[in-house]
Amino acid sequence: MDEGRACRALNAALVPLPEVYVGMRIPALAAAPVLIDGTGARTLNAELLERAARDDYHEWLSGAKAAGGCFRPIRLRGTIRNVDADTGEILSALDTQDTPDKVIYLPCGDRRASVCPPCAATYRSDTYQLIRAGLAGGKGMPASIATNPCVFATFTAPSFGPVHTRVVTSSGKVARCRPRRKANFCPHGRRISCGQRHRENDACLGEPLCPDCYDYNAAVVWNAHAPELWRRTIIGIRRRMDKLARSHGARIRVSFVKVAEFQRRGLIHFHAIFRLDGQDPLHPENTVAPPPAFNADVLADVIRQAASVTRFASVGHPIKPMGWGIAWGAQVDSRMIRLTGYGEITPATVARYLAKYATKSTESAGIPPGRITAENAAIYADPRTHQGRLIAACFGLGNHPHEASDRCPAGRTCSATAATSPPRAATTPLPCAPFARPAGTGGAAMITTTTRLS
Ligand SMILES: [Zn+2]
Ligand SMILES: [Zn+2]
Ligand SMILES: [Zn+2]
Repeated sequence: MDEGRACRALNAALVPLPEVYVGMRIPALAAAPVLIDGTGARTLNAELLERAARDDYHEWLSGAKAAGGCFRPIRLRGTIRNVDADTGEILSALDTQDTPDKVIYLPCGDRRASVCPPCAATYRSDTYQLIRAGLAGGKGMPASIATNPCVFATFTAPSFGPVHTRVVTSSGKVARCRPRRKANFCPHGRRISCGQRHRENDACLGEPLCPDCYDYNAAVVWNAHAPELWRRTIIGIRRRMDKLARSHGARIRVSFVKVAEFQRRGLIHFHAIFRLDGQDPLHPENTVAPPPAFNADVLADVIRQAASVTRFASVGHPIKPMGWGIAWGAQVDSRMIRLTGYGEITPATVARYLAKYATKSTESAGIPPGRITAENAAIYADPRTHQGRLIAACFGLGNHPHEASDRCPAGRTCSATAATSPPRAATTPLPCAPFARPAGTGGAAMITTTTRLS
């Protein structure tokens, strides 16, 4: 075996990852399952060494690189023909039987960094560019939209009981968690007070001061209904803005992009960028500036008003026949985004921030990102931990059969499945005027006849 060639093969095959992943690259890849080609399972290093010695090594490497370093690439088998859409002429053809592994590789495309760091890095970069273009122009959007009013808003869940928190004041000091000189004792004999200045990685952050008082049922029901609360809030914002525009004889359009993030207490909160556009009556497809009266202050006010009044009741349950009240927490923060100016957040900052959270899942709340089922729930529903109690509450509520309704389309198991699964789409496409769309893909059409193997 040529050791030098083998080392070069290893280095070439391992696509360089961002610094943050270097620490996890080697153990993760070493433990990853290797291709099954009828010769038995091998470690990744052994597989690479064996391939480096083969004559078709370079051909295999170019095919493997197409997966972009994906930790669990999709394998496809079949034929691919590149056909001219206008003439029907076959420009090129490939049968996977002619490739070294008799398959082609595609990246899994998972957005979650905890599942596939390289694909998540790609997703994060794409998301950043998309949001940045929506704020500053580019990628098909006019540069003039950079002056359209924009607001960065954060929507949080209400309190379901006091939890340990770490608040950094405007002067940069860490405030005490929950100091109470005359603190009350809860019915379980616990003092509802905490005078500590928590460190960033304190394990207790997000955990309730009294787990027995914390309303876990209400918390998981709120999580399950957060997407519906968001939908109603957006309707409210658009209706208010339309009414305002009509009163001024103007035509206004509100666009947004949002990401969902799990807080340490296990509740979802949303970060969103809203942009206000005017409408050109002659060319409605164009994105133009709104009338001067419609500035970022007006947009921020409308967002705050809509968020403060949007509320509804969940479906009923034997332990809460009238349902749980679903509304936003008291702190709906909305701030202006400007290209320049001291003290305001810039488009690049906010685009980076949203793109980062687009690749996160439930792991930031200490809950594994994989699917929790009735079979494995007992392992995760540990009553000694905050996360375990949240999971137990999901299954405790979801086990009760009840009628499906418009609020509960999943029917009898909605509470458990919805509350324990991360939101299906972390980023919401912009319904009216997208921040940006990818450019068209030329005239040639790719026709594929493939079978997914994994
Ligand atoms: Zn991947
Ligand atoms: Zn505390
Ligand atoms: Zn208590």
